[in-house]
Amino acid sequence: MKFHTRETLKINEKGHLEIGGADAVDLAQRFSTPLYVFDEAYIRAMMRVYRDTIEEEYGGNGLVLYASKAFSCKAMYAIANSERIGVDVVSGGELYTALSAGFPAGKIYMHGNNKLPHEIEEALSAGVGCIVVDAVSEAELIDEAAARRGICQRVLIRINPGVEAHTHAFVQTATPDSKFGFSIANGSAEEMTRFVLQKKHLSLAGFHCHIGSQIFEKQSFVLAAEKCLDFIAEMRDKVGFTARELNLGGGFGIWYTEGDAEVSPSGYRSYLTALIDAVKRGAKKHNLEEPFLLIEPGRSIVGEAGVTLYTVGAIREIPGLKKYVAVDGGMFDDPRYCLYGSKYTAILANRALEESEERVALAGKCCESGDLIGVDFELPKAKTGDLVAVFSTGAYNYSMASNYNRNFVPPAVLVRGGKAEYIVKPQTYEDLVRNDVLPESLKNC
Ligand SMILES: *Cc1c(COP(=O)(O)O)cnc(C)c1O
Repeated sequence: MKFHTRETLKINEKGHLEIGGADAVDLAQRFSTPLYVFDEAYIRAMMRVYRDTIEEEYGGNGLVLYASKAFSCKAMYAIANSERIGVDVVSGGELYTALSAGFPAGKIYMHGNNKLPHEIEEALSAGVGCIVVDAVSEAELIDEAAARRGICQRVLIRINPGVEAHTHAFVQTATPDSKFGFSIANGSAEEMTRFVLQKKHLSLAGFHCHIGSQIFEKQSFVLAAEKCLDFIAEMRDKVGFTARELNLGGGFGIWYTEGDAEVSPSGYRSYLTALIDAVKRGAKKHNLEEPFLLIEPGRSIVGEAGVTLYTVGAIREIPGLKKYVAVDGGMFDDPRYCLYGSKYTAILANRALEESEERVALAGKCCESGDLIGVDFELPKAKTGDLVAVFSTGAYNYSMASNYNRNFVPPAVLVRGGKAEYIVKPQTYEDLVRNDVLPESLKNC
């Protein structure tokens, strides 16, 4: 099969793609296109595999946080809560969304390399479980805000273990020149540890690191974990501070194209187990108590759960050069090709059993030559009106979408057992002009 099939993602007897028991052609008719479709069973299976692995392999001494920047909407926080996991947020907007879905603040971790003063206030007002500090000025802001409230805020320090993971440069986050984290190698992580420990209204629980995203090599995660344990021991010996908590971030890779591993939800257990084993070995080596362990998977929880459906419109063939099949979406619902040159797999969801006959570029409808979903899709000969399904679009698509060219950010539906419901409603033209203001001085022009 051309795509990473599973019980809830397959081709049905009509030759149509079926997602979560729902026929893609029916979904397109009922909800129109472009449409983000999310398979609830897959999301839950992924949350459970991480949660159960910590339960079974690490005595429950840890917590899974869904990295909600991958796909943030009320329904996702509700699902995470019902699976008894935590979440991380990276802005006031994500925090607000989580809280408005009733997510318990105590299980929210707040990230960001430049948290704004109002975001810090909001986090403290809500009573978030932990803030991951990533700047000296930020530590001061949190300390002052906590002092005004007469509280002590639990924090982690984001450290940079200097591990270069094999992934796209834009999603590597632990290189020596990264904008994230305090470097272990140049001593700034130690300096920051001493600084935070002096602050009366900060309670330092431990350290956080996140080496990047879309990483398949277990060795990169293991190396980062080892470096973090070495650092914890070093701080115990030099500074007299023993971290109780270690957050190793997210970054597990998912399947996008034939070059990527096809990992089933249960297969992700081995990634986490490799990481847990490294933490256990490191603790033993340094005679440390095993720290409370956090992981923050985003892409791997929701990425493969999502499929985007588009309708084919204009087709342009430039003889001898290229064939463009234009769809009713584009960079405004999926900017990842523009940002990273990302690759995807697509099929014609209404003719899913037909053989591929040609290689085409899937173009969007925006006024940009670079507005493509990708350039080399193998498809049957597409006709206007065909339904295109692009796989693995659950992460960093909706969350990075825009209203460029005043296109609508598409709605999202959640499917389970063949039933589909909106989790993000369609936008309207009225929504697009909601915040526009026509000043008096322009009204009679
Ligand atoms: C983006 C991010 C994650 C999630 O990464 P994925 O590759 O989506 O798993 C986790 N932690 C931090 C701090 C992040 O910035």
